[in-house]
Amino acid sequence: MPDDGRRLGEFDIIARLFAPLSAGAPGAFGLTDDAAILAPPVGEVLVMTKDMMVAGVHFLDDDPPDLVARKLLRVNLSDLAAMAARPYGYALGLSLPSSIDDAWLEAFASGLGADQREFAISLLGGDTTSTPGPLTLSLTAFGSAPERSLLRRRGARSGDMVYVSGTIGDGALGLLALRGQVADPDGFLAGRYRLPQPRLALRDPLRQYASAGLDVSDGLVADLGHLCKASGVGAVIEAGRVPLSPAARQVIETAPERISAVLGGGDDYELVFTVAPGDAPHLERAASSAGVNVTMIGRIVGGEGVRVIDEAGGEIILGTGGFRHR
Ligand code: ADP
Ligand code: MG
Repeated sequence: MPDDGRRLGEFDIIARLFAPLSAGAPGAFGLTDDAAILAPPVGEVLVMTKDMMVAGVHFLDDDPPDLVARKLLRVNLSDLAAMAARPYGYALGLSLPSSIDDAWLEAFASGLGADQREFAISLLGGDTTSTPGPLTLSLTAFGSAPERSLLRRRGARSGDMVYVSGTIGDGALGLLALRGQVADPDGFLAGRYRLPQPRLALRDPLRQYASAGLDVSDGLVADLGHLCKASGVGAVIEAGRVPLSPAARQVIETAPERISAVLGGGDDYELVFTVAPGDAPHLERAASSAGVNVTMIGRIVGGEGVRVIDEAGGEIILGTGGFRHR
């Protein structure tokens, strides 16, 4: 990488900012070798996921670098949570435009460090380049799990109950709030958009009791649709059961049409999963001991597709221009 005076060279970036983040992973060799080694616990398989974020597309140039870093890590951790895997380590790819200076990189690295401690994961390696294009970040996360306890999108059966973790819609409403399109007096919704909460704490309850699951990144209805397609089933969810935060509830009270953002918008990074009726009480108890709220929002049925019904039993049709009742 050329030395433009405002930024450490590639070797110094790695040695000063990133090598300390590899301290918890002996297989990273302190980022002083050409590659790292991966050795999952005996009897477990490695689980891999990757997400990229591009400035101007997935975040804004002036977003706080520590939050950008934490979101980059967390969206990947959410994928590991969705597979009921335990975090193992991650690799980082950075394409840096000349506008990125040392202060930005230091804050970025400290954001990663904070979340590494919170979620028990370490940096294994990566690559650093400069670019004439926008800041581009790529993170590959590895997890581990016994293969038979992986949570897959396939496996839901007719009669299973559909659950979600946490509250739904905050991410989509948070993005609208950052654009000034919905009220967010205390910044709660924007905070949920900027800093998702990967539900890794649900790993053991999901391994024991869930039949299928995934994380909500594209929107509740779309993502549940992916699960249904993979499982060869349909689903009916009751809009009135979908758990809302107090801030989201307030938005819906003044602007009911925003329910389409709640049900159809993305960026929640909560989990949606299915549980056989006999396992539901066990799942609920285990989730509560794990400290995560889960809510039953509907049922798996025969057929295909996701139907959303309102309190009166009428179907809610989600369209791009909002929603309507049928
Ligand atoms: P090479 O040019 O042989 O690929 P590098 O100089 O790119 O080697 O990398 C040296 C070491 O630094 C490797 O262990 C690599 O994984 C690590 N590394 C490089 N960039 C990053 C980064 N952005 N984050 C974490 N580790 C990195
Ligand atoms: Mg390299």
